Amino acid sequence: MSNRIDNLLHEARRFPPSEEFAANAVAGADLYEAAGNDRLQFWADRARELLHWHTPFTRTLDWTNPPFAKWFDDGTLNVAYNCLDRHVLAGNGDRVALHWEGEPGDSRSYTYAELTSEVKRAANLLTSLGIRQGDRVAIYLPMIPEAVISMLAVARIGAVHSVVFGGFSAESLRSRIDDASAKLVITADGGYRKGSVFPLKKAVDAALAAGGESTVSHVLVVKRGGNDVEWTEGRDLWWHDEMVAVDDEHVAKPFPAENPLFILYTSGTTGNPKGILHTSGGYLTQTAFTHKSVFDLHAETDVYWCTADVGWITGHSYVVYGPLANGATQVLYEGTPDSPHPGRWWEIIQKYGVSIFYTAPTAIRSFMKAGRQIPQQFDLTSLRLLGSVGEPINPEAWIWYRDVIGGGETPIVDTWWQTETGAIMVSALPGVTTLKPGSAQVAIPGIQIEVLDDDGHDVGLDSGGLLVVSEPWPSMLRGIWGDPERYKETYWDKFGDKYFAGDGARRDRDGDLWLLGRVDDVMNVSGHRLSTAEIESALVSHPMVAEAAVVGAEDEATGQAVVAFVIVRTSQADVATAEEASALLRAHVAEQIGAIAKPRTVFLVAELPKTRSGKIMRRLLKDVAEGREVGDTTTLADTQVMQIITDRLAP
Ligand code: ATP
Ligand code: MG
Repeated sequence: MSNRIDNLLHEARRFPPSEEFAANAVAGADLYEAAGNDRLQFWADRARELLHWHTPFTRTLDWTNPPFAKWFDDGTLNVAYNCLDRHVLAGNGDRVALHWEGEPGDSRSYTYAELTSEVKRAANLLTSLGIRQGDRVAIYLPMIPEAVISMLAVARIGAVHSVVFGGFSAESLRSRIDDASAKLVITADGGYRKGSVFPLKKAVDAALAAGGESTVSHVLVVKRGGNDVEWTEGRDLWWHDEMVAVDDEHVAKPFPAENPLFILYTSGTTGNPKGILHTSGGYLTQTAFTHKSVFDLHAETDVYWCTADVGWITGHSYVVYGPLANGATQVLYEGTPDSPHPGRWWEIIQKYGVSIFYTAPTAIRSFMKAGRQIPQQFDLTSLRLLGSVGEPINPEAWIWYRDVIGGGETPIVDTWWQTETGAIMVSALPGVTTLKPGSAQVAIPGIQIEVLDDDGHDVGLDSGGLLVVSEPWPSMLRGIWGDPERYKETYWDKFGDKYFAGDGARRDRDGDLWLLGRVDDVMNVSGHRLSTAEIESALVSHPMVAEAAVVGAEDEATGQAVVAFVIVRTSQADVATAEEASALLRAHVAEQIGAIAKPRTVFLVAELPKTRSGKIMRRLLKDVAEGREVGDTTTLADTQVMQIITDRLAP
């Protein structure tokens, strides 16, 4: 029993779907029924319904060699054809695929016909550079259309992309190039961020110059920033020069369903990033299905916007593959949310009439911090569905998101998934599910989730445990690139043939799932196992608090004690001294969820350490709370943050 996680948070607010929404919803309760009757048949039906197969598959799942799964493996398809050509052939070539918005305010739109033609050219270009099926191509670009075009061109010729987030350093880029033995790097001179140009080509030069000979034979450079670049003749090529020299006719060849599609490194919230491998048919099936049913996509009328960078899994699955497989019209934005003004995102929603919007709790909380008067200056009435991903969304942030951004009416889908799962695994289905702020709710149809204790027993209702996926799923990772042992060890050794996600969860009495944070971050206070998510939610429910992170710090009396790091909302910054605020918040937590969860210490801070994908890195705060030297910060978005926090807290 002691390895279970205590349950403290109680949330009573409920939001059933409106009749109107339910009547027009893409998803119906019948999906659960179909999946419940025959899970494999359900996925086979989705694969046939949503994708074009050059050779139809006859085998749905081969799980004879766990944990190495094969889905639809005697079928063949072309991923890029599914995202492009078939929409044009179906008469939708004039539909806008991408409304791209540059940070300085320049913009470009691509119809499906135009995007298809660009990808065909790029596929010819890659082929002319010697890229063949199975070769790896590193993509290190800002959020510009060429990022999407490059990914699809690589997929079109059966090669494998490894997108490296443009904010990563030369060292991080080099280690990812080496890990995958990439033959080609696609980059830009520079990109816009916070009003100025950051160099990318320079980082590629540094990456390739360091540490001996690399596997890279060419560097393709998109002109974006207009900044000066150095040039290595014979190796470096301008994208615009090369693209005009190749043909825009290209026939998409079919590849096996299990042909590798990409390698992507996890965010590194908990430690060393892992090179996650995804393949084609199963991945595209589940991303297309979830994108359509979880976001209630009506492709003819909706304008969809997912704010994730293509350098993250959310950008792969819900900017590139899911939306384009479904023929959606979407917005792609290059820059930061607050450049050149703090209402930039809302201005973009107004400009394009965005109807479906998908972002992360960290962004929502930072808007809460700045205040509702900013979004309220824009017309957001086109929005009809909101999504959240990346961290647990605290009930208070959920309510703010719905009220202020969603006009008090839009459904919110809180989607739980990981780089490893490839696509959404747990979420409400809009129009079907009665929503609960803070709960990710239920496994999507065709997915089997269990909450287990350390010994593999179901913890039952209203008790916290470990989130486990108990049956293989189409978009599951196929391994860690080059390291099958680490793959088995990290995800499968704990429960044999069940996938261990590394997150804590609880199922409530209605059967809804609540994510409790990383299992590694669970705190043990006087024998009670407390989750980070619940205490953080309690803190954020105080009007003074914009954002909070808690960690367990060693404590002589209680084993561990709760230590909280709190950012105060801008409008409330002066209401109390630090001591008063801290006393107030300790009492608030005790009152909200119980005395056992009351923080021993509350530190008021200006920033929290986050990964580049916006997740809080609690392990660094734990170092601070326990007075240790701060650990590895290479995947931090802002490496200054830890210095600022430690300076401020030094006695
Ligand atoms: P690393 O594995 O290297 O530490 P990471 O886990 O941060 O990196 P991602 O795959 O981008 O890398 O993040 C997946 C994790 O994000 C999940 O395991 C979970 O902890 C968290 N997460 C994602 N969506 C949600 C959500 N809706 N609710 C709660 N947590 C979420
Ligand atoms: Mg992870």
